[in-house]
Amino acid sequence: MKRLFFALWPDDAIRRQCLDVVNKLSGEGLRPVAPKNLHVTLLFLGNIDAEQQAGISAAADRLSVPPVMELTFDRLGFWKKPAIYCLTARRFDSEIAVLVEQLAAIAVGYGVRIDERPFKPHITLARKAKASVVIEFEPIIWRADAFCQVESCSDKDGVVYRVIKRWSSAPSGLDTFSSN
Ligand code: ATP
Ligand code: MG
Repeated sequence: MKRLFFALWPDDAIRRQCLDVVNKLSGEGLRPVAPKNLHVTLLFLGNIDAEQQAGISAAADRLSVPPVMELTFDRLGFWKKPAIYCLTARRFDSEIAVLVEQLAAIAVGYGVRIDERPFKPHITLARKAKASVVIEFEPIIWRADAFCQVESCSDKDGVVYRVIKRWSSAPSGLDTFSSN
């Protein structure tokens, strides 16, 4: 079994912009997300066996990936229950919501129990947040041209994410790589 999710994965420029916002945050016990772990979850799958993974992955191969999926992260959220600070996007291309719906339908077809709450794109910046804060930052405009399947692994230092497959709108359609 692997713990998997679909995500948008940042390039270095977006990662740096997120980091600039992370660096404005402070608070007792606050745990910033490691820069290499910053992402937008599209759909959380949870623990998936090899057969489900193969089926879901093959079905995702048949989806058309929009050439550009744009999100504007312009607000800092304090979400009390998960105790996080996150960037939220009030504006994002409708194709992203369509893609999330398609991925959800695929996952459900393979017996995955998905989160029924509406898709709210966010980038978790820090955990163990205790109170809302007001900070100034330039909106981050993220133009994604691909989505990824990511494995969530735990090691002694906490969680590490590993991109295991990437689907892009590039002419070849699909590119797979191994990050080992
Ligand atoms: P940890 O759970 O150890 O604090 P994490 O939440 O970063 O770490 P995972 O729980 O593996 O790592 O989650 C991977 C991604 O999926 C994260 O973006 C997380 O917010 C999201 N996620 C996890 N569980 C759910 C869920 N039940 N519904 C929706 N998204 C989820
Ligand atoms: Mg979690």
